[in-house]
Amino acid sequence: MVEELVREILQSLPPHITLVAAAKTRTPDEALAAIRAGVKVIGHNYVQEAEQMFAVIGRQVQWHMIGHLQRNKVKKAVPIFDMIETVDSLQLAEVIDRVCEQHGKVMPVLIEINSGRPYFRVTKEIFEKIREENLPDVEMKFLSMGMSNSYRVAIEEGANIVRIGTKLFGPRE
Ligand SMILES: *Cc1c(COP(=O)(O)O)cnc(C)c1O
Repeated sequence: MVEELVREILQSLPPHITLVAAAKTRTPDEALAAIRAGVKVIGHNYVQEAEQMFAVIGRQVQWHMIGHLQRNKVKKAVPIFDMIETVDSLQLAEVIDRVCEQHGKVMPVLIEINSGRPYFRVTKEIFEKIREENLPDVEMKFLSMGMSNSYRVAIEEGANIVRIGTKLFGPRE
């Protein structure tokens, strides 16, 4: 079931779009089914849940943090995640930077902007504006917007990462 849904969605996505399977509350087996069907990135909202799933699945996929990250969880998050999509303060960025230095790791991060469905266009405009600034050491490459019920619109508005849970795994209990 999960595998069929994943295949369907992957086939419907333009090739430049990265699908993040939003796996909160799902079991490692559900995630593994999604991976068999072609999912390459698992997204998690909670570090502890990610740790448990990571222990089973490991590095056969990439791991994105998509939930709010508390500063006191960064130490545990850095070794697991390949990208943190939710940097919402300078202080958080600084803690990530410090912990990454200890790990000899460079963490790709996305800046989180508070927006909702009608605001995809505004978010894209902000993205472009920052890109045009050509800020040193800033690469504006990924725009992560859209979930199960909005990812098509988000892609039309310029998203190249979509985070889908319900539509892959079914409704959450
Ligand atoms: C749960 C979640 C998603 C996926 O939502 P669905 O509606 O289940 O597709 C995407 N992004 C974030 C940050 C989430 O917490």
